[in-house]
Amino acid sequence: MTASEGVALLERYSDPDTCPTDRLEPLPLVEEPAFVSWQQEIPRSYLGLPTEELDRRIREARAVLGPRLVVLGHHYQRDEVIRYADYTGDSFKLARHAAAQQDIEYVLFCGVHFMAESADILTPPEVAVILPNMAAGCSMADMADPADVFAAWDEMTAALPGERIIPVTYMNSAASLKAFVGRRDGIVCTSGNAPRTFDYAFARGEKVLFFPDQHLGRNTGHDMGIPLDEMVVWDWRRPLGGNAPEELARARVILWKGHCSTHQRFSVAQIERARAERPGVNVIVHPECSREVVAAADASGSTERIIQAIDAAPAGSVWGVGTEINLVNRLASQHPDKTVFCLDPVVCPCSTMYRIHPAYLAWTLEELVAGRVANRVAVDAETREWALVALERMLALP
Ligand code: SF4
Repeated sequence: MTASEGVALLERYSDPDTCPTDRLEPLPLVEEPAFVSWQQEIPRSYLGLPTEELDRRIREARAVLGPRLVVLGHHYQRDEVIRYADYTGDSFKLARHAAAQQDIEYVLFCGVHFMAESADILTPPEVAVILPNMAAGCSMADMADPADVFAAWDEMTAALPGERIIPVTYMNSAASLKAFVGRRDGIVCTSGNAPRTFDYAFARGEKVLFFPDQHLGRNTGHDMGIPLDEMVVWDWRRPLGGNAPEELARARVILWKGHCSTHQRFSVAQIERARAERPGVNVIVHPECSREVVAAADASGSTERIIQAIDAAPAGSVWGVGTEINLVNRLASQHPDKTVFCLDPVVCPCSTMYRIHPAYLAWTLEELVAGRVANRVAVDAETREWALVALERMLALP
């Protein structure tokens, strides 16, 4: 695919009439009693509305709802959506914003499903958290099916008698998995605090089970001095995760075989090309990229850290960035005195984040004005209790 074809694809994704993801069947939601959420049908009439009319209707509905509503927007959302956010951030920062809200009735979460679940867990039960399009999932989170994780846990604990394994789940996971780690002395982590969660885990056990992103787990372990051969990958489709018993016994970190489709696109060759074409370029990538890519970059960090690095950089500096294209483009337009570009010459949007379109905002907001809550994400009480334990352990880290 050429760069211009990639731009055309991005434009298709931003139009609800042509967006291929909007016309996909909604992602199958995990069928278990952990949460209640279902996709309500957006009326077709919303999908053909011109941008100006959507904008007017969104603003009017927000004015009616006033301080009863807060809108949270993830950095990877398109500009046409994020401009309505009261708060922007990565998943961790948005979780903190959700937890800090007082006297509100609704949170409209412009992000993906696991983020809305976390917001529901961190807000009082009477606050309704709404995901404008329930099909906005996360392909990485979906790689850790709770039933597979539960089965893997039983298998590995049986294979390692006498060893204490502490589960650590990335924020990008189902609420039922956060509850799973909460019940087992485990903790939730983000890309910004993963080393501190490993410290937490190794203070309590000999091994860490990390899911769903093998790359963040491996990069974190490596930065903490754990040799690569003491980190094994658990492939849930194979006996013992595809490991020999002695490999499992030697491992200190067991990495779930999951990844982010967006960040896995970045390669060492892209970094080498950026350096060849733009001498002096600073390369910064997200730790969901592979170990090889993180090793080849000048720096790595969460989306918040990438933003801070470019904000603080001197005028005239050049930045090749390995993360989602909406954030990179936004940074480029916010810093016209610097050169900021995406390492991937073909655009790399997170296709599930793209499922949030202004038409869904207009619809869910107008439903609220009419006294109806569409697309509510509600975590059941027991899951909420234990997931909150795991989240609060993370929020309490120094
Ligand atoms: S960028 Fe990757 S990890 Fe983030 S929501 Fe999209 S698929 Fe999930």
